[in-house]
Parts: sequence; C-alpha cells; structure tokens
Amino acid sequence: MRLRWASNVDGLAGIVSRSATFSALRKVAMPVLIVFLALVGLAIGSFLNVVVYRLPRGESLATPPSRCPTCETPIRPWHNVPVVGWLILRGRCAQCHASISVRYPAVELLTAVVFVAVTLRAVQLGLLPALPALLYFAAAGITLAFIDLDTRRLPNAIVLPSYPILAVLLGGAAWWQHAWLALARAGAGSIALFAFYFLLVCLYPAGMGFGDAKLAGVLGGVMAYVSWSTLLIGAFAGFLFGAVVGIGLLATGRGTRKTALPFGPFMIAGALTAILLATGSA
Ligand SMILES: [Zn+2]
Repeated sequence: MRLRWASNVDGLAGIVSRSATFSALRKVAMPVLIVFLALVGLAIGSFLNVVVYRLPRGESLATPPSRCPTCETPIRPWHNVPVVGWLILRGRCAQCHASISVRYPAVELLTAVVFVAVTLRAVQLGLLPALPALLYFAAAGITLAFIDLDTRRLPNAIVLPSYPILAVLLGGAAWWQHAWLALARAGAGSIALFAFYFLLVCLYPAGMGFGDAKLAGVLGGVMAYVSWSTLLIGAFAGFLFGAVVGIGLLATGRGTRKTALPFGPFMIAGALTAILLATGSA
C-alpha cells in the first residue's frame, strides 16, 4: 500500500518525510508497525472480552484468570491465545465441551483490524501523535458497544473516565503538533454532540437514554479533533446505521416497532467509520 506521506505538509509525518533517510526507514518500519499493532490489537481484544463479560457483573477484571463460564475450569494458557486458542478448541471448552461463543475470537479480530486501520489512517492524516487517543477510543468503543448490546447499558465506569483520559491524550498530541485549534475543536465538538443528544433524550426519552448523551460527548470530542466534517459524518452515520438495522429487523420480521435497539453500538460504529473515512485533518 502506498501512503500519501508527501502530501502531508503538517504534522509529524510531514516533518519526518522531509528527511532523506526516512524513505528507506519507512519501507521497513511500516510493515513492522502494522504487524506489531495487529498483535497488540489481538491481545487488547482478548482483554476487552474480559471487560465485556465481567464489568457488567461487577467482577474483578484482574482475578481470577480466565475460566470457562459453564464449568468454571481455568483456561490453559495456550488455549487462551487470542483467536488461535478458540480454533484449537474448535469453539468448545476442553473440559466440559460447552460451546464458547464465536464472539470471543471475533472481538479479538475486530480489535486487531480496527487498530491497524486506525493507525494507517492516523499516518495518512498526519495525526500519528494522536494515535494513543485514537486507539484508546477504539478499544473503549468496542467494549462499550458489546456491553450495550448485552445489557442495554453504557457503564459510567468506562464512559466517564474516558473524558479525562482522552483530554490528556489529545492534549499531549496537540502539544506535540502545536495543534491547539484541533484541541479547541475537540472541546467544542464534545459539548456540541453531548448537547444534541441531551436534547434528543429530553424530547424523546423512549428512544434514547442519558447514557447515550454521555457517550456522545466522548465521540464528539474525538471526531472533532480530526475535523468538523468527521464529527458531522460520524453523527449522521450513527443514525443511518441505526435506521438501516432497525428497518432490516422490521423487514425480516425479527423485530417489531417496539423492539428497543441499543443505540450506543450505532453511535460508536458511526464515529469509527467517520474517522476511518476522514480525508483531512482540519
Ligand atoms: Zn467448561
């Protein structure tokens, strides 16, 4: 894949691309970076599975080590390797043969793919210093989407700390790139999308919850850091995805007008899509 390094005049990528040795370096560095991030994504995805399962149950995230949810037998280390472990076991517990949901390896693969895609996009946009913020956002988003699907809740334990964590990570990126305008935009975007959803919750309490508004503030901040158009596209894409799936469920008879769809996963999918489709930062 050819990356448009030369077109980036702003930001770290642009500064670095001007050095002569870098052209040779990146030929080696990019594939290494991609493989590294895919592996990190698989490992993080494995941890996200733990969070999705345990956090809503009020269980500790650190102890005990992974167990089969059916027979509670601890899972052997080599069976716990992301994706590979599930394939070796052919989706069944080694002890009690209860089936292990395909969602576990799927979340691991999804996290790896999103991590690599977000990194490539950050490089293209000259937003490499914002990568820690974007990867944190991707991980928290995937976790929240699956918890919302399972429980119809967006836990404050993840949503609320995301505000200071992203403020620090985006603040660091802005300081590194002197991108104070982007940081100001993130603050304004966060308030704007929160306010928009807050209004929706007040006008239409049956369709959305206050948790969606709190999530909207997080999404709005990250999207607006990239650009205003990313914020607009992401917000719109959330509603579009929700409408498409809602209509699909109605049309296939798998839902009625009264089926309450959790809205968080659509908001998060919309935000990630907008960031992955973003064409420029500003
Ligand atoms: Zn078992």
